[in-house]
Amino acid sequence: MFAKHLFAVTLGSAGLFIALPSAAQSPPDVALTRIDCGTPVLNDVGPRFSDTFAYKDLKVWFTYSCYLVRHGDDYLLWDTGHAMNAGAPAPKVSIVDQLAQLHVTADQVKYVGISHYHADHTGQLPSFPDATVLIGKGDWDGITAPKPHAGANVAPFAHWISGGGKIEPLAADKDVFGDGTVTVINTPGHTPGHHSLLVRLKTMGNVLITGDLAHFHENYDGNGVPVFNTSRAETLASLDRFKKAAANLQATVIIQHDARDVGKLPAFPAAAQ
Ligand SMILES: [Zn+2]
Repeated sequence: MFAKHLFAVTLGSAGLFIALPSAAQSPPDVALTRIDCGTPVLNDVGPRFSDTFAYKDLKVWFTYSCYLVRHGDDYLLWDTGHAMNAGAPAPKVSIVDQLAQLHVTADQVKYVGISHYHADHTGQLPSFPDATVLIGKGDWDGITAPKPHAGANVAPFAHWISGGGKIEPLAADKDVFGDGTVTVINTPGHTPGHHSLLVRLKTMGNVLITGDLAHFHENYDGNGVPVFNTSRAETLASLDRFKKAAANLQATVIIQHDARDVGKLPAFPAAAQ
């Protein structure tokens, strides 16, 4: 009896001792909100989205999603979608106007993370001149090369190319706030410096956002590679890494362009916590 009692007390006080420092260091609340960054388009994916001719008559609704991550008082915007003058897929409401509905101003956005340099992810970047831009080094090199890469949407980066804005070219992952809650994940292949995003939420749990590592469920599930792609080998390796991370973290996977994944997060202006 005595030994059992002693054991319980020891365990209890050890548990208390461990709990105190971790409570003192607990990271700020993190919240994730989907921002609409384009008008959906029904895409005939056969011709361009498989280099193995996998999709004969498949048509997929493409959506254009950006994401606002709140970390305490700081904000990271993930991707900037289409420009307002992009034609049919242009957004109906700008990111800045959507942020206003959340009572967030453009100058509160500390970081803009860019998954890759294509036009449908970079269109509204000029609205955030005060932000530090996080972009894969391979993509930044492709934007700033004397002859920029085909497909690199150079114009929105003018402010950062000129040295007017802060830029962090990433050669690897980046733990954005230093506490593991928001990590930009190196997933090259679609473009040389392509990155994805991991957000670890207290209630919803882990969320992995693809960027364009995959464009829709069928090419995510079947390791499909689009025709317009920098490196097939790197894309397959990145898909392998991403899927293993998703399994190990029991993460909700959100394929940014797939309209079927929009409902995985609460509808704007609500946030996942
Ligand atoms: Zn895209």
